[in-house]
Amino acid sequence: MPRNEIPVFTFPERHIGPDDRERLQMLQRVGFDSLGALIDAAVPPVIRTHALLSLPDARSESDALAELRRMAESNHQHVQMIGLGYYDTITPPVLRRNMLESPAWYTSYTPYQPEISQGRLEALLTFQTVVADLTGLPVAGASLLDEATAVVEAILLMRRASKGQRADAVVLDTECLPQTVAVVTGRAAAMGIEVIYADICAGLPDRDYFGVVIQNPGASGVVRDIRAACAAAQARGALVTVATDLLAATLFAPPGDLGADVAVGSAQRFGVPLFFGGPHAGFIAVREGLERLLPGRLVGVSRDRDGAAAYRLALQTREQHIRRDKATSNVCTAQALLANVAAMYAVYHGPDGLAAIATRVHGHAAAIAAGLAATGIGIVHADYFDTIVARVGHSAKKVVARAAADGINLRRVDAAHVGISCDETTTADIVARVLRAFGAQPAPSSPAPIPARLARTSTFLLHKTFHQYHSETSMLRYLRALSDKDLALDRTMIPLGSCTMKLNAAVEMEPISWPGFAGIHPFAPPEQTRGYRELITDLQNWLAEITGYDHVSLQPNAGSQGELAGLLAIRGYHASRGEPQRDICLIPQSAHGTNAASAVLAGMRVVVVATAPSGSIDIGDLTANLTAHAGRVAAIMVTYPSTHGVYETDVRQICDKVHRAGGQVYIDGANLNALVGLARPGDFGGDVSHLNLHKTFCIPHGGGGPGVGPVAVRAHLAPFLPGDPLDGAAKSPPVSAANHGSAGILPITWAYIALMGPDGLRAATENAVLSANYLARQLDPYYPVLYTGPGGLVAHECILDLRAITRATGVTAEDVAKRLIDYGFHAPTLSFPVNGTLMVEPTESENLAELDRFVDAMIAISAEIDQISSGRYELERSPLRQAPHTAEQVCADQWELPYSRRTAAYPSGAQGDKYWPPVRRIDGVYGDRNLACSCPAPEDFAADIPPNRDEVLV
Ligand SMILES: *Cc1c(COP(=O)(O)O)cnc(C)c1O
Repeated sequence: MPRNEIPVFTFPERHIGPDDRERLQMLQRVGFDSLGALIDAAVPPVIRTHALLSLPDARSESDALAELRRMAESNHQHVQMIGLGYYDTITPPVLRRNMLESPAWYTSYTPYQPEISQGRLEALLTFQTVVADLTGLPVAGASLLDEATAVVEAILLMRRASKGQRADAVVLDTECLPQTVAVVTGRAAAMGIEVIYADICAGLPDRDYFGVVIQNPGASGVVRDIRAACAAAQARGALVTVATDLLAATLFAPPGDLGADVAVGSAQRFGVPLFFGGPHAGFIAVREGLERLLPGRLVGVSRDRDGAAAYRLALQTREQHIRRDKATSNVCTAQALLANVAAMYAVYHGPDGLAAIATRVHGHAAAIAAGLAATGIGIVHADYFDTIVARVGHSAKKVVARAAADGINLRRVDAAHVGISCDETTTADIVARVLRAFGAQPAPSSPAPIPARLARTSTFLLHKTFHQYHSETSMLRYLRALSDKDLALDRTMIPLGSCTMKLNAAVEMEPISWPGFAGIHPFAPPEQTRGYRELITDLQNWLAEITGYDHVSLQPNAGSQGELAGLLAIRGYHASRGEPQRDICLIPQSAHGTNAASAVLAGMRVVVVATAPSGSIDIGDLTANLTAHAGRVAAIMVTYPSTHGVYETDVRQICDKVHRAGGQVYIDGANLNALVGLARPGDFGGDVSHLNLHKTFCIPHGGGGPGVGPVAVRAHLAPFLPGDPLDGAAKSPPVSAANHGSAGILPITWAYIALMGPDGLRAATENAVLSANYLARQLDPYYPVLYTGPGGLVAHECILDLRAITRATGVTAEDVAKRLIDYGFHAPTLSFPVNGTLMVEPTESENLAELDRFVDAMIAISAEIDQISSGRYELERSPLRQAPHTAEQVCADQWELPYSRRTAAYPSGAQGDKYWPPVRRIDGVYGDRNLACSCPAPEDFAADIPPNRDEVLV
């Protein structure tokens, strides 16, 4: 190699934490002299593939970026006026740089550990407040996956609320967005819900149903007075959901004021780029009395040990991990990062700023209408917000083509109608160019007054948060102050089993904000989106090669949606073969909660398969179930490696048994970080898998989303993959509003695979397995590793069993999790999949120093546990039970605990970069009993604080 081409470091060397020297040390500790020998011992030969993946060779960072730039540039950046739920918007640069592109925000995990998540919980609570205020309903959730699936969630909520007392039917407004209709139709069919289409303003169908869905403003842009329709539906005992637009709600009477029970929609136009369809935050809000039926996550206010107000995820007992097949929904990963951007957009603009933007948008639409009218072109609806539909004889195609030639995308509604949607980026110049496409010219227009019956009269966003961060300086500091409260990957490893919190490299993140990827409307014509299509095809091919399947759909917006898509494919397949009665889904006891919830949503019945003492699937119980349900088994869902972090050796046998019984094998591939380059689920018996690109393939967790959950299938299931929501002739129903789901973040995974190449990907897996085994070996003497596979080895994660410690000393896994905060760590996964345990997954990205820092902390905590068993500390007054400790607490004038302040806050000696949690341990039960889910006034809290603070403190 010529001297000037010797690489300094390759990307895989940057991505993988340990270097050669560290690797050798770790291998020695685990008892192997090479990585190859460890992998040969750990990975069962029955699943192992030795061939190198057939993927392009690793590229350098500059080559990968150049290739991505070429693809971005082959997407056409037109002015996007197609509308239909997607509107261009201006992401304030202060939010783009300090939130969307800031690792402090995008690398954080879902806020299950509230003490280290107060910043993003406050931002999500702000999102809930924005949605609740603007929709005019009291309680909103912390984001859903997109608008179309939010409508589905609302329908299921209305159905739960009606407790099965009404016919299993729902009415869908003819003004609903086409993609919403497509998604609802498919999902309703899977669950046996009848969908009745009706023009709700022409009168409701005269029969029984549990709910009505209205879109207002409608797909045509029309804004209607829906009070009578709401009242009529409710008089019949049905509930009403209104799909709506948050910007319109600043000027027009919102759903809550008009009588709706539920409001849903997308918060995209609050500063989140079009991204060719996603990721965007869907939202849902409900009237009082329905909050306990809400799907997805809900941030609530509770209090900490000292009585201070603190945020947390509320009603966690409803979480799918616990409720499983009785869960309110299968949504797990949602759209936290995008919800946070939308929330801060509202904070930055404030209520007056939002109303000003809305007024401008409305004014531009009115100016277009006036210009058209002056040329004799009529519009279909007199009452509109941002969208008008022009009547153009038979020249719709010609008008749309003329606009496109001028770089503007309009919507061809049909041969005679053209839709025009204005947004925050519309200018007078764009108005003039749009008019030119119609052969019209700007005409004098006065801002169209909004009829009194349609206008908003209620106030919104009164909380001070929406009034104090309007300068860039104050916003910058607010974002920094919030993120400083949190622990994300930019400060510490996050050893979360099942979640794969690995490096999200800057080079992978960079392209997503490029306008060539960010500014593309999902319904832009195909000739404008060649770059995206190329990227998507590459990824589909690469992921098919990595998994050993034949076809991949990138449509699902999260793992849960991939599961649903895969199970729907299985149902479609059985039905096509005349076996629609196959509706039983076998799910092992240890499965992730989303599995069971997804099976129910696919219209299946869940039968649980027992776990053997080894942690593997109990083959005897499996056989018994296959016999008991002969002819009815649709599928088994197995996670591989198991949720116990073990490579099960009998997976092929399990697949064969299920296949012989006529069932399909669904392999949950969320744990693919233990397989990439070593084994392929499509080769060892799977018919279908979903992967989580936000775990194995470097899309960051964003504090609880976005995600991408591709579904990969063998050829016989390919015809049943999700269809295009805009393709009326699609064979299978879509599971997302946009054909390619969260397309805007696919460049991240494309970059990761391109940069790693086949050798790098395999090396990442091997190192993930090495790191997990290193931790298991180091920690087992202190916290026994619950399950191991071949050779006493684990796969990419391990479960530390604290149950014996809890029995002997009372110290719980939660105590250890909270004490880790004092040491500066995010806790491992708590009590999943086994209660009373911690599941640790280090990933390949952590170097030996960080792994050892974690080991040292865990060993030091073990010594603290010993001091409880030796009687030195009483449990309640021990550093473990009192953890975490705040700066305020250790600086207080009084200190009455039996250990020193130094032990409290600097337990492992001096740390220069000490993390201080902003609150003490949070009382979850209190928060659920006193549900408060929007920004509270501080006074609302004072009354609830127990009068004697000291009593609580010690
Ligand atoms: C994370 C995970 C899921 C769910 O994925 P989401 O993207 O959160 O919906 C499903 N199964 C397993 C095993 C997982 O670890």
